[in-house]
Amino acid sequence: MVENYLIIGGDGFVGRWIVEMLIKRGETSITVFDIVQRYFDKEIKHYQGDLSNYDDINECIKKENITAVIHTASPPHDGKSEELFWKVNVEGTKNVIEACINNGVKKLVYTSSSSVVYDGYSELINTDETAPYPEKHMNVYNETKAAGEKLVLEANGRNGLLTCALRPCGIFGPNDRQAIPGFIKVMELGQTKYQIGNNENFVDWTYVENCAYAHVLAVDKLSVENQTAGEAFFITNGTPVPF
Ligand code: NAD
Repeated sequence: MVENYLIIGGDGFVGRWIVEMLIKRGETSITVFDIVQRYFDKEIKHYQGDLSNYDDINECIKKENITAVIHTASPPHDGKSEELFWKVNVEGTKNVIEACINNGVKKLVYTSSSSVVYDGYSELINTDETAPYPEKHMNVYNETKAAGEKLVLEANGRNGLLTCALRPCGIFGPNDRQAIPGFIKVMELGQTKYQIGNNENFVDWTYVENCAYAHVLAVDKLSVENQTAGEAFFITNGTPVPF
């Protein structure tokens, strides 16, 4: 089926990889919604707006007759503003869901995070999607990503909307503005001499191209028949590396 795609956060790291993947495979109806504009492509429409403002996102979905939404937007993971995480990840995600339902969008794929099941100290070994959310989240980023994910999954089936959530781990690869710059900052601050644990801790990372591909696959395959609708999926590269 020919879709009219909307990538929310399409000027971000993951969002841009998704946009480029869709362009590369010849999709002709791609729209980006983002609070900033970093890319200027002839072949895609761009809406600059704030998803915590319902009218901004609703107008974009309505005008472009969007049928499939990939929602990757979130404030930067810098811990600066707890309020902003609630506003964008929870209230903003509510707006996205309502705008999808009100405009008859068929598919909504939400970029969640593996951190939604992590409490900050308990070991998670061979964890799968049956793991519950923790009673207390490690931080407000994790808490609001979990709250946004829950809203998206609960919206599955409303007015024919199919939803799913993808949970990448830390994402790395070309154009990353958070992970590698963060490591460099830690080195510059001389903080690498500290070690937590005995160096046997394992954590997975997700290569950005795999992460983007997971989103494209999800939007292609999302259906009731294959039991993907209303579900969350961890997205990893396979073998964890020592952390
Ligand atoms: P990013 O900051 O590069 O991209 C996010 C985009 O969202 C930005 O372009 C930003 O301008 C946009 N945005 C933020 N607030 C907005 C608002 N109010 N309205 C409209 N647009 C807004 O981040 P990323 O690394 O590409 O992360 C994408 C998604 O993946 C996020 O949802 C994040 O929680 C999730 N995630 C990221 C990682 C990681 O390591 N980068 C790991 C797990 C999950």
